[in-house]
Parts: sequence; C-alpha cells; structure tokens
Amino acid sequence: MLTFEQARTVILDSVSPCGMEQVELLASLGRTLAEDIRAPWDLPAADNSAMDGYALRAADCRETPVRLRVIGQIAAGGELTTAVSSGCAIKIMTGARIPTGCDAVVPVEETETLDGYVIIKETVRRHQHIRFKGEDVREGETVIEAGRVIRPAEISMLASCGRALVPLFRKPRVAILSTGDELVELGEPAPPGMIINSNAFSLAAAVREAGAEPVLLGIARDSREELRLKMAEGLKADAFITSAGVSAGDHDHVRELLAELGVEQQFWKVAMKPGGPTAFGLRDGRPVFSLPGNPVSTLVTFELFVRPALLRMMGRRRVIRSMVKVTLAEEFKKKAGKAQFIRLRLDREGKGFSGRSSGDQNTGILKTMLLADAMALLPVERTVFTVGEEVDAFLLGVESGMGEK
Ligand code: AMP
Ligand code: MG
Repeated sequence: MLTFEQARTVILDSVSPCGMEQVELLASLGRTLAEDIRAPWDLPAADNSAMDGYALRAADCRETPVRLRVIGQIAAGGELTTAVSSGCAIKIMTGARIPTGCDAVVPVEETETLDGYVIIKETVRRHQHIRFKGEDVREGETVIEAGRVIRPAEISMLASCGRALVPLFRKPRVAILSTGDELVELGEPAPPGMIINSNAFSLAAAVREAGAEPVLLGIARDSREELRLKMAEGLKADAFITSAGVSAGDHDHVRELLAELGVEQQFWKVAMKPGGPTAFGLRDGRPVFSLPGNPVSTLVTFELFVRPALLRMMGRRRVIRSMVKVTLAEEFKKKAGKAQFIRLRLDREGKGFSGRSSGDQNTGILKTMLLADAMALLPVERTVFTVGEEVDAFLLGVESGMGEK
C-alpha cells in the first residue's frame, strides 16, 4: 500500500497545467500567471520628486542658510519648459518631473518663503528626494514570473506595465459526482436511513476555494447503468471527482465502472486514516479521483490529493501547504501501519503552537472538523504520541479565527 506522500507524488507526476487564456486585469486576482511579464518601459518613466517642496541645484546650497529665487512651480503631471539656473528654485509637487538643471529637492517643511524667495536652512545632498527613471524597474526586466499568484501588488505592477489583459492558466473544470442509494438532494425530504448529499457541496466549495470551477453532476444511484451514464459525463471535464462507493462493500461499483470507461487506475488504497480507500486514475491524461464517501474522509482526501493536483493544473509552483510544528498538549494513540490525520485546536505557545484534539477523532464526526484549526500528521509506524512531543501539522484557514473559537 502506498503512503500518502507516495500517493500524492503519483498524482502530481501525472498532472500538468491546463491551457492559458487572457483575462481582464482585476479578474486575475488570486489566479496564476501563465507567462513571464516583462516591463515595456522604465518605472518610473522619468526622474521625479519624492516630496512636495523645492527643486534646486545642490551646489547653490553648500553654505546655508541661502536664499533662492522661486521662478515657477510644477505639479504632478505638469510641464515645465524653462531650465533652472543657478540661484533659482522651482516649487515642486510629489510626482512632478524634475526640471532641467535641478539635481535635488528640499521638502517644503524644511523651508521658509519670503517675497518670492525660498530660504534653505540646511545643506543639501545632490539627488536627495529624487526618484530616478528606471530605479524601480528597467525596461525589458522580468517583473513577474510565470507560476506566480496574482495579489494586489502584482495587480499594481501589471497596471503600471500597461497590462489590461493578463495571460493566466485556465481554471480547470472539475466534475463532481456523488454516488449512493442512501442519498437525497438538499431540499428533498430525508427519511431515516437516507442522508443529504452534503459531499457535493463540500467538494464544490473546496474546488472553488482552490480556484477551480466545480461542475455538479448530482447523484448516481448504486446501479451500473446510472453510474456509467453519469461517469461518462464526468470524464469530459478537466478533472473528475467521485464521492463514495470505493470501499469494499457489495454496492461499491465505482472503480470497476471507471475501468470499463477507460480510466487507468494508478492506485487504490493509501496507508492513511481517514481516507484509506481513495483511488486515483487517469483517462487521456485527465485525473480521476475516487474519494471515500464519509464527509470527513472526503474533505481530508480532497485537501491531501485533489487540491495539490488542481493547483498544479492551474500552473502554481507551490502546491503543497507548508507544515508547522505543533506541540501536543494531550496524548494520542493509534495503530501502526497507517498514517493518521488528527484534527486539532491550536493555541499560541511562545513562538509556536500547542495542539489538543478538537473533539472525537472518529471519521464519522464532522463537527470535529469544523472546530479544528489544524490537521496533524501522526506518522505510519508510530503508535504513542506523548504530551510535549512535536508533530507536523498544516493549518486550516487560520485567518478564519484561530484561537478565537
Ligand atoms: P461509502 O464510501 O460508500 O462506503 O460511504 C461512506 C459513508 O459516507 C456512508 O456513511 C455514506 O452515507 C456517507 N456518504 C456517502 N456519500 C455521501 C454524500 N454525498 N454526502 C454525505 N455523506 C455521504
Ligand atoms: Mg456507498
């Protein structure tokens, strides 16, 4: 049986970025750049003032205080044709071009004015308070590399480079099919023994959160005909996720039918808990994930296997969440032979975190997932984890309020 790391490697080795598309600048937020962006011009485009003040010649201010005649003023975006000669200064606003002949700016706060003259009290360094042409970015320089995620700072750079359209990797369309005779759709009555198809929603939400586009195919009963029909539909998408029906039950037909439809299984079963019966296959190079139906297992396996794959399909460089060290505040036990992912609540402790169980770790308990700040990995062969021991964990949406629950 594969470890979860091996299984993830199999997946990541078999997926590659979807095509690219041009997207309007603002709509590119949070998405991944498909091509290197080069600056079409210098930034700033011209020498300009970093302060509101007076543009002058530093050589005129070797001995201070000194009086310079103010011969005009220039605002940002303004034009000035007269050159500035010795003994003169120009009133200048932040962002305005440095007039010919000037080589320094003195902030207005450090000056006084009198009868058309400005009085400079301190000596002036050449080039002070000037932002020089090209000091931020040189024409032709690569300013953002392909594979980087677009944040507000990247948006700022793209706009400054005149990019109204941005080359991005396309969002994968991810088909989601829930399977099982016990399922009813949200809004329908759910008599005892039946359950609402919540996985369709959790998976769609997780797909969307990863930045891809969910396509909901509804429920397929555990009948071969219905499964075959809906699976054929799912296999048209860039990626296909099925929920449930991959264990060893009498009605678990998912893998067999996928095989009949041409999906080449890459693995089935991973040495982990929750999520053991996960299967992964490929059809014409497109990934097919068969996740166990238990809502906790579905989310855990999405996080570990599907999310990194989708990020890679969107051209991301970094696809695996970084792990943090968590000091256990309570003891945990498990069997050898499988890695276990436990749901923890975290508290800040010194520079790091301490973690305790967020509740019943049984895979049937969804609430424990809602209360968790992090998921910690208990390695395959180990069995007892003592108080004070450090384990690896990844954070689950920390910005949503860790430590505030
Ligand atoms: P299975 O993987 O088919 O053995 O299903 C495992 C458990 O997951 C069962 O208790 C199912 O009722 C539950 N389950 C299956 N599909 C869904 C779904 N779409 N939404 C919520 N729970 C589900
Ligand atoms: Mg089932």
